[in-house]
Amino acid sequence: MSRPGDFRLVDGTVIDHLPVGTASEAMRILGLPREGPVTVGINVPSPRIGRKDILRVEGLFLCKSELDRLALLGRHITVSLVRGGEVAEKTVLDVPQRLVGILACSNPTCITNSESVQTVFERTDADPPRFRCGYCERVTRIERPS
Ligand SMILES: [Zn+2]
Repeated sequence: MSRPGDFRLVDGTVIDHLPVGTASEAMRILGLPREGPVTVGINVPSPRIGRKDILRVEGLFLCKSELDRLALLGRHITVSLVRGGEVAEKTVLDVPQRLVGILACSNPTCITNSESVQTVFERTDADPPRFRCGYCERVTRIERPS
C-alpha cells in the first residue's frame, strides 16, 4: 500500500521503525549520504510504535557491522532490502550476541583504551542491552529510547 510522501526505491535499503530522533545517528553510523539519494522521514506516524524515523537509501546494502551498530539504536528497527522495486528481504534487527570493534570500553584502565586492540563484547542482556568487555569484564549498558 502506498501513502502520500512514499518514495519508491529501485535497489537499496529501507531502515524503518527507528526511534524518533535516531535518524541522524543512523546516518552518521552509515556515513550517509554516500552515493545514491537518501530520503529521511522524522517523526512519521506509525501504527506499530506511534512515531518513528525512517531512512530510504538508494544503492546501499548494509554489512554485518553496520547492522550491528544500527541494532543498538532501538528495539523495533526493521531493515528491508529492495531489489527491482520490490522488497526482497525484510528483517527485524536483533541485539547482536557479540560486538567486535564497535563499542568502546567504559573502564578507563582497560587495555582496549590504551593499546590499539580491537574491542570484543559479549551480550549479557538483550533488553536493555548490556555487553561484557572480553578484556576486563566491565559491563556496559546501552541507553536507547523505548
Ligand atoms: Zn574493558
